[in-house]
Amino acid sequence: MTEPLRHDARALNPPNDVLHRFQLERAGVRGAFVRLERGWQDLRSNGDYPPALGELLGQAVAASALFTSTIKFDGRLSVQLQGQGPLRLLFAECTHDGSVRGIARWSGAPPVAPIRLDPEARLAITIENRVTDTRYQGLVPVEGGDLAHAFENYFERSEQLPSRIVLAEAHGRCGGLLLQQVAREGGKGAADDDGWNRAGHLLATLTPRELLELAPEVLLLRLFHDEDVRLQSAQPLAFACTCSRERVEAMLRSLGRGEADATLAEQGSIEVHCEFCNRRYVFDDNDVNDVFGATDPSPPGATRH
Ligand SMILES: [Zn+2]
Repeated sequence: MTEPLRHDARALNPPNDVLHRFQLERAGVRGAFVRLERGWQDLRSNGDYPPALGELLGQAVAASALFTSTIKFDGRLSVQLQGQGPLRLLFAECTHDGSVRGIARWSGAPPVAPIRLDPEARLAITIENRVTDTRYQGLVPVEGGDLAHAFENYFERSEQLPSRIVLAEAHGRCGGLLLQQVAREGGKGAADDDGWNRAGHLLATLTPRELLELAPEVLLLRLFHDEDVRLQSAQPLAFACTCSRERVEAMLRSLGRGEADATLAEQGSIEVHCEFCNRRYVFDDNDVNDVFGATDPSPPGATRH
């Protein structure tokens, strides 16, 4: 699947909603490049975010897509930061097939960039595997002040996996670059001793502008031209919400008929609002009967429609 990297026509007009895995053969490093433009703008338009908070959310969204490159799975991967400070919640999610969504919550006066992360906050990465119906969550304290360093620390502590991460958001785009050290097995083709340090130093020269604007082929060649870059084909990314009427119905069932009837009596209908995509799901008496009809016998006197 991989081919030696070279300039080609795609570099002139690259799509800007992509995930690329790549390898630095000489340094013994694997990596990923993510950029979102349309998908990020669609996602962001669902919330009214002050610029500094939008910047942080864009970085989190790029990170969630980057991290899907590190595992093989069928499901979704989320990154979540929760704290008691003004930044209450930062949540971003990417599915195995490249659908992203996310939200951020802030309390108090609008934040000013750059937001320093609260060391009391907790950072989690959660992987839900649809096929095996399993859920894995790693949780670490936030260290490093910014999101990229907090994630580097996460991989170091939680996965014992040396990682370098750069994240950026500006002018309607967000993006990220991830490097991870490939375990050395020795023998032919093994990384040279200095490969990991060298790749890290090269990455440190990357500017946010380059990350957000250069075609990935050009960017990787510019950064790592002596490292034998192997770029894999692009995986498309887009904003999409996984909410559905069926999921909302399942949630209503888990809350129970009593809760549903109480809300109906009070408000006349049940309205559920998805914060990720602003879709609204409305249930009236008949809908509620339908929702509970199959699983929960209706109380005497109720009619099923
Ligand atoms: Zn939704």
